[in-house]
Amino acid sequence: METQLEELRQQLEKQSLINQELRRQNQELEQRLQEKEKALQELHAQYRHDIEFPAPSDAEPQPEFRKSRAAVIAPEPIPETVDVRKARVKKTDSETDLIVKAIQKNDFLSRLDDEQIAMMVDLLETSDVRRGGEVIREGSEGDSMYIVAGGELLVTQAGRDLRTLTSGDIFGELAILYNCKRTATVKAKTEVRLWRMERQTYRTIITNKSKKKREQLLGFLKTSRTLKDLNDVQLSKIIDSMEEVKYQNKDVIVREGAEANTFYIILKGEVLVTKSVNGLQKQIRRMGKGEHFGEQALIREVLRTATCTADGPVTCFSIDKEVFEETIPVEHLELFDDSKMLQEAQAPEKSSFSSTLRLKDLVPVLYQEGRFQGDPVTLGVGGFGRVELMSRSNHGHLYAVKRVSKKHVVAKRQEEHVLFEKKILKAIQCDFVVRLHATFKDTRYIYMVMEFCGGGEVWTKLKEVGRFDEQTAAFCTACVVEAYAYLHKKNIMYRDLKPENLMLDARGYVKLVDFGFARELVRGEKTYSFVGTPEYMAPEIIKNQGHDFAVDFWSLGILIYELLVGSPPFSSSEPQKIYAKILDGVMTFPPYLSEAAKSIISKLCRPRPGQRLGNTKNGIKEVRHHRWFGNMNWHKLRMAQLDAPTVRLIRKGPCYINFDRFPEDQTKADEEFSGWDRDF
Ligand code: ATP
Ligand code: MG
Repeated sequence: METQLEELRQQLEKQSLINQELRRQNQELEQRLQEKEKALQELHAQYRHDIEFPAPSDAEPQPEFRKSRAAVIAPEPIPETVDVRKARVKKTDSETDLIVKAIQKNDFLSRLDDEQIAMMVDLLETSDVRRGGEVIREGSEGDSMYIVAGGELLVTQAGRDLRTLTSGDIFGELAILYNCKRTATVKAKTEVRLWRMERQTYRTIITNKSKKKREQLLGFLKTSRTLKDLNDVQLSKIIDSMEEVKYQNKDVIVREGAEANTFYIILKGEVLVTKSVNGLQKQIRRMGKGEHFGEQALIREVLRTATCTADGPVTCFSIDKEVFEETIPVEHLELFDDSKMLQEAQAPEKSSFSSTLRLKDLVPVLYQEGRFQGDPVTLGVGGFGRVELMSRSNHGHLYAVKRVSKKHVVAKRQEEHVLFEKKILKAIQCDFVVRLHATFKDTRYIYMVMEFCGGGEVWTKLKEVGRFDEQTAAFCTACVVEAYAYLHKKNIMYRDLKPENLMLDARGYVKLVDFGFARELVRGEKTYSFVGTPEYMAPEIIKNQGHDFAVDFWSLGILIYELLVGSPPFSSSEPQKIYAKILDGVMTFPPYLSEAAKSIISKLCRPRPGQRLGNTKNGIKEVRHHRWFGNMNWHKLRMAQLDAPTVRLIRKGPCYINFDRFPEDQTKADEEFSGWDRDF
């Protein structure tokens, strides 16, 4: 009996030990599960590209590194006219109130200026959805944004419920900027009333309004005696440097006797001009829209001779003397100060474009080893095509051949850009821009045969080392500055600067590739397309204010930052957050950046295009002379006589060793016969 009891006791003890062990294992498993779940959440957050639905506003982890290549946004044509009367929908006070409140709490929309917000309120139209109705579908292309006026909607993504939207919530707002894929589905849970706006309406009206405003300002400036001798290009530059300032009733704008350093144009409201006579303020006159004051301040040292006070709310456009001096006289605007290049510009350029090279003379270069051994080498895959490495059968010379599906071009309405990319590249003879040797087409593809840049993408190198030292970054930037000098002189804006579009040649010199977004522009004119890569976009593009060469200097600042830090200053996995950050314009610099680096970045990334380094009266010279470039020998750089600090980043080995590897393209594009490529 006793032995039995003892046995039972031992068994029980054993069982309890096993139980303990099991509990421990359970705990461990649970902990591992939690860890996995956390990792999964993090992964999800990383790949949550383009989610354009309000998430519960948890603070974003900082800093967010750019791990993937940036997406590009190709411009689409803007319709010439939209029936504005049809588009305008009257709103009651409470409706306006709901809309304005909704916009104010939206991260991105709240950053647009008052006029754009007012326009939005004006243009929203109602749309009723019955219970169960689908408003937008995941994966489809978006052309409208919505504000919930009443009812409830459910947001789902890949079949998972994300959240419920109710009155005052906004969704799909990215679609008012450009054509983007919806990242979630939204369905009505109840009867729903929505405020809806289409992109084409918004863009057309904002664009026309921006154009009108510029014309109007031009007209106002022309009535100034001081400025009357300036031409339209110069006046347009002044407008680019001016800032909007708002005053409340009775605010003093300028005070008699004070030092004068600002010139004002009244955009809205009335201003009282008074002078002190025997200690009393005497009204001399009243000024209204279009009138200006303080122009003397721009050209000489003066004291204000009168006091100007806002009579009711007033909006002015103003420019400071200091900024004005940087802007004018633009007739001395020299974008280009290099004698070698000047001589080149005068002599007819020798084109490297070849009429003897034939497509059938080119044979694909194959991977010599590794996973893809025996397959053709692909150097890169972009939004529009694939770039393959080819060699000329008879003498082994290497070429990078970009192949683009014609059908894809038509589907994305990029015909003009492709034709223009060829036209521009063909005409360019610059050591800092990739050469185009020939172009071909067949029924499925167009081909661009380019010089092969064997050093690989600056982007790949940057990811390999994390960030560049200042000397390497300055060298890369200097090459871009030289490319810009050449392009801008030819009135070409580049508009797609980023490390992905910078290639290293075998010597480590940087060349611009990818001219899909480049455009010719007459000086003094603006273009209104929404184009570029979100992280690199200048504020005036996001705001639809019209843009010009100045956007290239903005992106140069962003590039310097990304090269030195490893990720761009304004980044997020959600584009609308990037736009909000750009419009806020608050840049934070890590402590290891030099003062000179911070200075050049801040000067290039000034929100007003007219005040940006490179776009002020001395043009690109000012960029070259910035102290960040230290003792850069620009002449030697142009002559390719400098040792590039980038060479140590270039690997030695087979010709494709500096490139990522890509599997062979097994698909064949459909044929396309519409004839858009007649001139290609
Ligand atoms: P995107 O999506 O940027 O518009 P895309 O289809 O227009 O892409 P490119 O940017 O011109 O194509 O080229 C895609 C990639 O191919 C480049 O990022 C680069 O890696 C590689 N590549 C392009 N041109 C060359 C070249 N001349 N020599 C070597 N590699 C090149
Ligand atoms: Mg590219």
